Amino acid sequence: MKKRYADLHIHTYHSDSTLSPEEVVDLAYEKGLSAISITDHDCIDGIAPSIERAQKYSLEIIPGVELTAEQDEFEVHIIGYFIDWKAGWFAEKLAEIRTARVNRIYEMTAKLKNVGIEIDPEKVFELSGPGSVGRLHLATVLYNEGHTSSIGEAFRKYIGNKSPCYVKRFKLTPQETIDMILNLGGVPVLAHPHILGRDDLIADLVKKGLRGIEVYHTDHPSKITLHYEDKAFEYGLLITGGSDCHGMGKGGIFIGKVKVPYKAVEDLKREAAAIRQKMKKIPGTAE
Ligand code: AMP
Ligand code: ZN
Ligand code: FE
Ligand code: FE
Repeated sequence: MKKRYADLHIHTYHSDSTLSPEEVVDLAYEKGLSAISITDHDCIDGIAPSIERAQKYSLEIIPGVELTAEQDEFEVHIIGYFIDWKAGWFAEKLAEIRTARVNRIYEMTAKLKNVGIEIDPEKVFELSGPGSVGRLHLATVLYNEGHTSSIGEAFRKYIGNKSPCYVKRFKLTPQETIDMILNLGGVPVLAHPHILGRDDLIADLVKKGLRGIEVYHTDHPSKITLHYEDKAFEYGLLITGGSDCHGMGKGGIFIGKVKVPYKAVEDLKREAAAIRQKMKKIPGTAE
């Protein structure tokens, strides 16, 4: 039997990719993938159109979301897999987080003005569309308008976490983030731990309810992959992986460049079922 693979970390233009959900699904099919997860930042709007498009192929769409928590000034990206993405309370929470993202663009453009760079915030919103606006959009406008020679430079010089025009996002703690995903019946997974670079946080995240770790990622060299495989075994975490494709937003289409055996999907499904089963037993938490 043909081996099946999944890319479990993909963005659409509903957050900061340049690709529509339909383009993502078509590309995933062309790459021969059996399953993909749509994991936009703070947004679920890409899920329904992906499912719709995937009906013409035998491609499975795993509903996901990538949320950002903050701890000691570090960004902890946590992906929720198999979330109940239709939950009304979650839509309200995401709307709140996205409003904070819009305000943050105004704050960052004001800071840029203080260092002599005029960016019209509307240009950033034009680029992002109605979904989730973020720094990659702002970095793209900075680059497009000739203020930097690359998108990477926009982050390094101006809006990277330690750069002068950076403004923090909506504040969520790791515990709030993990609980939110669990309450959606989803599986919380630590995204790209190498980018986070704080292995000392993993044990605590596991105590807080983390169930998996993204071992395979575009920014994980093979030595790093082995390192996080060890961490997964050490803490009994599920192993996931994906390309974190942002379309041309990061200079190349990565869909399928990083993939995991379909077993990872089966493991996530089993874990999601166990989480939902447990929720039913706790009064007031079942949907
Ligand atoms: P935000 O959620 O608005 O803070 O934006 C974070 C997103 O910006 C990440 O998910 C990446 O897509 C992107 N990003 C962060 N740092 C860089 C970088 N140095 N180069 C390119 N993209 C980056
Ligand atoms: Zn992104
Ligand atoms: Fe991320
Ligand atoms: Fe991502």
